[in-house]
Amino acid sequence: MTASGRFARVLPQFCRAAAASLLVLAVCASAASAHNSSNGGFTIEDIAVRDNLIAAQETLLNVYRCQFGLDIEAVPGGCTAGYPTLGFSQPAEFYGIPTPEDIAVRDQLIAVQEALLNTYRCRFDFEIDTQITPGGCPSPVHSEPSPSMALNALVRPGDLEGDPPPGLITQSGVSVAVAGVNEGRFVVTTPCGSISTVSAGFPLQGVRVVLDPGHGGSYDVGAVGPNGLAERDLNLTLSYAVLSELSSRGISAASTRNGHYGSPLSVRAAFADALGAEALVSIHHNAPTSTIGAQPGTEVFVQSSSTQQARADSARLGGLLQEEITAALAGFDNISWSRAHDAGVLRVLLPDGRDAYGMIRRPATATALVEYGYLSNRSEAALFATDEYIRIAAKATANAIEVYLNTDRASTETVQRPRVFDPARAPTRCNEVELE
Ligand SMILES: [Zn+2]
Repeated sequence: MTASGRFARVLPQFCRAAAASLLVLAVCASAASAHNSSNGGFTIEDIAVRDNLIAAQETLLNVYRCQFGLDIEAVPGGCTAGYPTLGFSQPAEFYGIPTPEDIAVRDQLIAVQEALLNTYRCRFDFEIDTQITPGGCPSPVHSEPSPSMALNALVRPGDLEGDPPPGLITQSGVSVAVAGVNEGRFVVTTPCGSISTVSAGFPLQGVRVVLDPGHGGSYDVGAVGPNGLAERDLNLTLSYAVLSELSSRGISAASTRNGHYGSPLSVRAAFADALGAEALVSIHHNAPTSTIGAQPGTEVFVQSSSTQQARADSARLGGLLQEEITAALAGFDNISWSRAHDAGVLRVLLPDGRDAYGMIRRPATATALVEYGYLSNRSEAALFATDEYIRIAAKATANAIEVYLNTDRASTETVQRPRVFDPARAPTRCNEVELE
């Protein structure tokens, strides 16, 4: 697409979105007045059009950040009463003769800003803007069926000889724990933690591993990369790849979520426990960026469970994951990794000594939470957007899980000194999804 074509596409979208904000309408007017025709050769106007759009998009990003209290540290001067304190972002001055590189750098930045704007729009169900996201926001339930749906044929309560299965994937592709049967229907826990019923589902029985793609839904995107990649989506893609890898090795596995919907940690943990899984692996990508270095900064959080056996199991699971994943990631060339000084297998504790992270503290199942790398780091975010990363990371994860389940092999990675951390409590907003 030509630069002017891109501009023509972006500006009306941008300005329709701005209907909610007088501040941004004013930016649109200033960007539109700077628009000039470009006819092959690069002129000062070609630069000006782009720099005005970049400044306008930056302003809208900052308005979103201030309106929704997201990534406020990225707003120069911070926010006042829901708007950027410093007002509009101003286009940079440009002197000299524009080169193709000057244009390319700007077009790349415009694309990154667009991706991030769309990620913010889909994050907040900000109705006036959601409709202008090209292709719309992801549908609540993943368009591809979960790999674990292939395990068994659809069952109805009337088909059962004995007890109902401990879990189901519903016909719309949602993972649920089953509490029982009532009036010919399965009684299930919804992803938001309510009780509901369904007529049928794909039974989850004899599941050895539960994967947990961290975050999900409109209210919990997790980290967002400089390339607009949302942790919510990356975690789901990687989880699906691990599920496929495990199923190709004959290891039955299920996922706490199978699409773009949210679910509180308590429901996810209870799902793994209800299934009687032997291992729960929660999949995340880290932020904010720490020191840049030569080695992957993978972190694996493990449990301080009350029983010695569970504590040892979690540490072994976490150690094997850390070993396999860092070895696999280290095979990628030319990555500026981010790494904290104490990266490794870790316990992260509240000041009262309990595990700080709910996904570690809550499950009775042996659990490890993996932060594969730093999505906030530009170099890693570009890697995480590739199919090659998904394939390699999924294989490494499945290797560790297979060794954990099928051998007694100890891990060579030992648990570091605990960190003490008191995480902010996330609001527990949750949109119910259709179960069938
Ligand atoms: Zn996360």
